[in-house]
Amino acid sequence: MMTRKVVIVGAGQAGYQVAASLRGKKFDGPIVILGEEPALPYQRPPLSKGYVKGEAKESTLLLRSADFYTTNNIEVRLDCCVAALDRTGREVVCAGGERMPYDSLVLATGGRVRKLPVPGAELAGVAYVRTLADAVALKPQIEAGGNVVVIGGGFIGLECASVVSVLGCKVVVLEAMDRLMARVVSPVLSDYYRDLHRGRGVDVRLGASVTEIVGTGGRVTGVRCGDGSTIPADLVVVGIGIIANDDLAKAAGLACDRGIVVDALLRTADPDIYAIGDCAAFPHPMAQGLVRLESVQNAIDQGKIVADAIMGEAKTYAAVPWFWSDQYEVKLQIVGLTQHYDDTVTLGDVGTGRFSVLYFRDGAMIGIDSVNMPSDHVVGRKLFGARKSVTIDAARAPGFSLRSQV
Ligand SMILES: Cc1cc2nc3c(=O)[nH]c(=O)nc-3n(C[C@H](O)[C@H](O)[C@H](O)COP(=O)(O)OP(=O)(O)OC[C@H]3O[C@@H](n4cnc5c(N)ncnc54)[C@H](O)[C@@H]3O)c2cc1C
Repeated sequence: MMTRKVVIVGAGQAGYQVAASLRGKKFDGPIVILGEEPALPYQRPPLSKGYVKGEAKESTLLLRSADFYTTNNIEVRLDCCVAALDRTGREVVCAGGERMPYDSLVLATGGRVRKLPVPGAELAGVAYVRTLADAVALKPQIEAGGNVVVIGGGFIGLECASVVSVLGCKVVVLEAMDRLMARVVSPVLSDYYRDLHRGRGVDVRLGASVTEIVGTGGRVTGVRCGDGSTIPADLVVVGIGIIANDDLAKAAGLACDRGIVVDALLRTADPDIYAIGDCAAFPHPMAQGLVRLESVQNAIDQGKIVADAIMGEAKTYAAVPWFWSDQYEVKLQIVGLTQHYDDTVTLGDVGTGRFSVLYFRDGAMIGIDSVNMPSDHVVGRKLFGARKSVTIDAARAPGFSLRSQV
């Protein structure tokens, strides 16, 4: 095979995986990872879990130590922001003006936090949790204790709320929708998590709007809500989603649709340019239309598929999507893609905190959310992996056993 130079933009989970998989497959051409952050590729999930809680150290977050990249002859340039793509010249242009040629280019640029669009959002003490630098800055503020307002009742906001309340802070969660995690889970799950958080002393307010962050001396003192009330706050943690980093692709004339549009092989319309991980909008056999996923599984599996493609072994991306979220001692595990579900069946007893919700579309199972039921999650991954379906009638029948469907 002709030696090709692979340039990867983004030193995150997906970018790292492409490089590691290429070397694992004995690719012997040059590999360069260009990353805008100062850190080697690291795991983000602990940032809203063990790291802020003090259970995971900064050094343990790295996916691999510096030795790995040296030994495998992978050049990693940190603090290096790619400013433009020159598709005609097949070069990337770094912010400092340096141009770097590529034969294959992988865009693994992830996403950036959606900023709170209200006055006062720039005050000190208003925090986001996307990068290691964010979490490093947040940790001492959490440890300082006091009143914490979490804006956004999605996974990251709720994980932070659980950590912060366990550490002894007084926590209020403000969610704009009428239920928690509404974009992803069914009302059964939303209600369970609302009660879980309230049971731990967190003040969960639904249908809440934020109009202003107020402060004195440049630091936050409170959050003003749409109902006119002001909630005292020493710290505000904002978790209202991310925006895919697709600007480079867009400026280079590649199609974007809230993410960089790729085909089933994860290639853009330019056959030398791939996009993977949080920044990519892709077709999937379990999805209707394009999907963009924000999960470690997706970043890893897409990285592997692109490494295969660069090695001349192109495969369609069809890995079963899965995800997890840890709040208190409760583990939520999600498998499948549940958008546009039209019915659910709950297995187990919600009251015991061990149950699974099965999601159906047109009578066929499309996903499972398991709460402290890892065995159901494992069965789900096996079922979807084998492209086996469970009908809603079967799931509703007395004595139904998920395990026996594998
Ligand atoms: C706090 C937190 C908790 C999470 N918890 C979970 C969880 O429990 N389970 C789960 O499955 N997933 C979780 N996720 C999501 C998961 O971490 C992401 O899906 C995964 O990191 C995506 O990997 P990625 O490589 O696509 O993007 P990223 O990891 O975001 O990496 C992209 C990198 O590209 C860099 N970059 C962007 N633009 C440029 C440019 N122009 N030039 C150079 N570099 C650039 C960025 O700075 C970034 O370092 C969590 C995420 C966060 C933030």
